Amino acid sequence: MDWAEEKEQLFQILFPDVLDAVEEGMLSAADAIGGGIELDWSMLNAWADEFARTYTYELVKDITEASQALLQEKIDAWIKSGAHLDELIASLGDSGLYGEYRAFMIATTEVTRAFAEGNLEAWKKSGVVTQIQWMTATDEVVCEICGGLDGSIIDLGEAGFEGYSPNEEPNMVECPPAHVNCRCWMRPIWG
Ligand SMILES: [Zn+2]
Repeated sequence: MDWAEEKEQLFQILFPDVLDAVEEGMLSAADAIGGGIELDWSMLNAWADEFARTYTYELVKDITEASQALLQEKIDAWIKSGAHLDELIASLGDSGLYGEYRAFMIATTEVTRAFAEGNLEAWKKSGVVTQIQWMTATDEVVCEICGGLDGSIIDLGEAGFEGYSPNEEPNMVECPPAHVNCRCWMRPIWG
């Protein structure tokens, strides 16, 4: 298998989703601070493109590394089994398709993170937003990770919110999602 080519293909599949999420995050961030504030959209769009490229590249790297490990496992099992080559090919066919990777990315909230990063960048560039507040979906208040974050306010540009820490170690959460399926969001504060 040609991993360089696989990476390139995977990048082409995932990049548009990530870019969409960042751009939607920026639009929603602009909405949240109202129509009176001028934003430099050419600058924001250039940032979104650059961010989405770097982010997708990292994502593809993680996925292909996981694929390589999985492939190695399948080959090892096949060698030990002494089975015919057809069986190896069949087992590889079951092991993962791009559609699954894409579903995985959405399910693991990578898109939510890209959206939140878009929020943050637009608010930074607005020049008016000074703080951000962690907002938790009503049914998530009981979540041990997000319950404690609900309502927390930090200065825009701070490293992150102080998140749930099961072992007393500091745990900074830059932005939602704090966990898989987290539906929290951020609210801008200004004036
Ligand atoms: Zn949450």
